[in-house]
Amino acid sequence: MAVNMEIFHQFLGQIAHLGERAEHVDLPDEKRVALAKEIFHQNIKAEQAGDLESCMHCGLCAEACHFRVGTGDPRYTPARKFELARRVYRREIGPFRWLYRLVTREITIDDLMEAQELVFDSCTTCGRCTLICPMGINVAGLVTTTRHALANAGLIPDDLAAVEQEQGSRGTVFGAGAEHLRKALERLAAQGLEAPLDKERADYLVLTSVVDLLLFNDQLASTVKLFNRLGVDWTFRSNAYEGANFGYLAGCGEVQRKATLRVIEEAVAIGAKAVIVPECGHAYPALRWEGADLYGKPLPFDVYAISEFLGLLVQQGELELDEALNGKVATYHDPCKVGRHSGVLDEPRAVLRKLGADLREMPNHGLLNWCCGGGAGLFVINRTVPLRRAAFEIKKQEVESTEAEMVVMACGSCRLNFIKGKDEMGLNGEIVSLVALVGEHLVRKSEPVASGREE
Ligand code: SF4
Ligand code: SF4
Repeated sequence: MAVNMEIFHQFLGQIAHLGERAEHVDLPDEKRVALAKEIFHQNIKAEQAGDLESCMHCGLCAEACHFRVGTGDPRYTPARKFELARRVYRREIGPFRWLYRLVTREITIDDLMEAQELVFDSCTTCGRCTLICPMGINVAGLVTTTRHALANAGLIPDDLAAVEQEQGSRGTVFGAGAEHLRKALERLAAQGLEAPLDKERADYLVLTSVVDLLLFNDQLASTVKLFNRLGVDWTFRSNAYEGANFGYLAGCGEVQRKATLRVIEEAVAIGAKAVIVPECGHAYPALRWEGADLYGKPLPFDVYAISEFLGLLVQQGELELDEALNGKVATYHDPCKVGRHSGVLDEPRAVLRKLGADLREMPNHGLLNWCCGGGAGLFVINRTVPLRRAAFEIKKQEVESTEAEMVVMACGSCRLNFIKGKDEMGLNGEIVSLVALVGEHLVRKSEPVASGREE
């Protein structure tokens, strides 16, 4: 299950030059400011207005953020990351705008550039600060609104913009398209692992992601093994296989909408009862929590993160795994978007226990898990390397305090960041994908998970 480090370094080499491919939007500064403000006016409704009115500057969120704690730099305090939104709200949207116009200055292009570093480089929208904030302010939500505002102003950082533009125009990510999926499946077939592709009807539409195709073939192979073993009616579709959504990450609404609708419409066309999202942290909320809004009505199928699906199978006694870990000490890293944001906390742990692991929790785990520092698109923004290292140092200490022989996760982006962190800073313990681990230890044919779920 070890990743080929030569391929990994080639992948990093590609990422290092992403920014050169970005198409720049040429606009006068005043126009950029106006475009950014347009989004704040559209998006700040009652909920975000309440958040912007509620901050009492207590500073407690400073201790929650891995970038603030890791660097010690007060600039990265979460409350500062919604300062731009607050200024526009106070001057132009809130009930006391007539007063704030007298005492607050108009935002400028310099303010947009300062916000760019705060909301793209130093926030993984992990949501940890919201748990610590006595007012429960959804900082990640305000950061996302600010990302959308900057995207509308043509101010997405180049590296991230290049990937978002590629997905928007060609539908591929890092050059990986349907042809890559087909070839990857042919390679698996040559090893005796057949996967259905483009079935016209299927109960389960299974997604994969670019990192599974290019780097983490063990995740792809194990997913195929799992669904074949379950004996359910499933398929990949070459028109909708990609779980990653760089429009969602970059704040580009149109690219997000297109990528999400592609999956939804394909799932509807084949009559899928469920869509299975691969080990890609943001892919899950992008479809599960935002999909229905973009579709304009409730989704006519269930959406499961694969770690959630595996856990449900285990909890319902429908997935037999050998206990091959045999007391091996393991710890589980919760991907923020699947764990804290979506509540998938018990399911992956049930799988690890079923495998016979001696599960040792990090001091901060579950809802309070520290982000690894590479999510929300930061992994592709090259200038964030020092910030990511500072954040990973916290994670490394948490992992090593458990003395685990393996750290298991269910997010390809976290896995990328962990491998890079280990490569540069060292880390005791093997870095392992949950689904890959399951694929190694399936023991017998099981029945499908019961359809439907309480919402
Ligand atoms: S959402 Fe996470 S990364 Fe962003 S400010 Fe809050 S704690 Fe920091
Ligand atoms: S903890 Fe909440 S109220 Fe306090 S400064 Fe941070 S965002 Fe504002």
